[in-house]
Amino acid sequence: MKILILNAGSSSLKYQLFEFPDKKVLVSGLVEKIGETMGRVKHDLLTGQSISYEIEVSNHQIALEEVASLLLKGKNAVVHDTDEIQAVGHRVVHGGEKFSAPTLIHSEEILGELRDLSYLAPLHNPANITGIEVAMRVFPNAKQVAVFDTAFHQTLPDYVYRYAVPNELYNEHGLRAYGFHGTSHQYVAWEGARFLGIDLVRFNAISIHLGNGCSMTAVKEGKSVDTSMGLTPMGGLIMGSRPGDFDPSLILFLGKTLKMDLNEVDSLLNKKSGLKGLTGENDLREILHRYDNHDPLAQLAIHMYIYRIRKYIGAYAVVLGRIDAIIFTAGVGENSAFIREGVCADLDILGIKLDRQLNAVDSKAAREIQQADSLVKLLVIPTNEELEIANETVKLLG
Ligand code: AMP
Repeated sequence: MKILILNAGSSSLKYQLFEFPDKKVLVSGLVEKIGETMGRVKHDLLTGQSISYEIEVSNHQIALEEVASLLLKGKNAVVHDTDEIQAVGHRVVHGGEKFSAPTLIHSEEILGELRDLSYLAPLHNPANITGIEVAMRVFPNAKQVAVFDTAFHQTLPDYVYRYAVPNELYNEHGLRAYGFHGTSHQYVAWEGARFLGIDLVRFNAISIHLGNGCSMTAVKEGKSVDTSMGLTPMGGLIMGSRPGDFDPSLILFLGKTLKMDLNEVDSLLNKKSGLKGLTGENDLREILHRYDNHDPLAQLAIHMYIYRIRKYIGAYAVVLGRIDAIIFTAGVGENSAFIREGVCADLDILGIKLDRQLNAVDSKAAREIQQADSLVKLLVIPTNEELEIANETVKLLG
């Protein structure tokens, strides 16, 4: 069974084609700069070979048709007919309260319900929905499945997801914490339980997703019970260009005193804050390089970044009562021994003891990095959101 996974952004389309049940990736790739004068295609083959070229891609329909022709035509074709692709799994950022599980998109009515949620994620959902509409046209006989970033967090209790603002904001507009990166948190938490041989229903963990976006989740008995992002992916940890938690009165100051309009505030908070706001750049590798060279801005940013993660570990330790594992994942979590060491330093109070040698090992495999007498297992588990979307798609289709 061949399953195509699509992650449609506002000007990009990421894809991966899986062969199940082997879970083999046949090809993967990315179409970028959709809608610009020149788009860019990068297509990675199973052989390790990569094809890159520029082409005019005025919209997502043309982008997906280009992907389909890469899959179907020429000497690198991996399918003979579009009907060989039995399902298309789509990443959809926001499922609101309506969609708490992967969903088969089989009618205009369900698409309409998805569209109605776009007000909660105006930067992401419209592009995700375009991806579904286009895939329905290009692969008309494939089952279309939406897998939501928010779904894993639909188990948050009400006293966690509600904000202490007037009730009508929740009742009439759905304003509450939803949480994001759910597919990644679910994947690494469930992989972590499997890796340690602990039954998922008894598994308590704190998963720390540190990529360009960053978030943490308290996982109790295999379920999300608290998470650092809220209504949108802006709150919680310090990220590449988003601030994480801050006093919301700052927004009033920006408007009332600095006379910024809401679009300027939006851009300041979503694109110019976080590590970017503190150091001028959002790539953590560059900032660590500057840190090593005693750049004071980089040093402050790294201290803030690590401190915020540690604060959430403290909070989630209390939420969980008992922690089997702390799991690091995504670009920074999987690759930066320095950040992991900073996060785990001096946490004897929680029985957390990092092994510096194990931590320093550079590997792409799931691994343990704690000392033998650490009460909490410390894991590095590479995330794989596309595989998780494929797994969920197959599970739904039986
Ligand atoms: P992601 O969004 O998961 O692709 O992660 C992107 C982030 O991971 C960027 O901030 C990168 O700088 C960071 N990153 C990737 N590799 C490393 C590394 N070896 N050390 C530190 N940060 C890294």
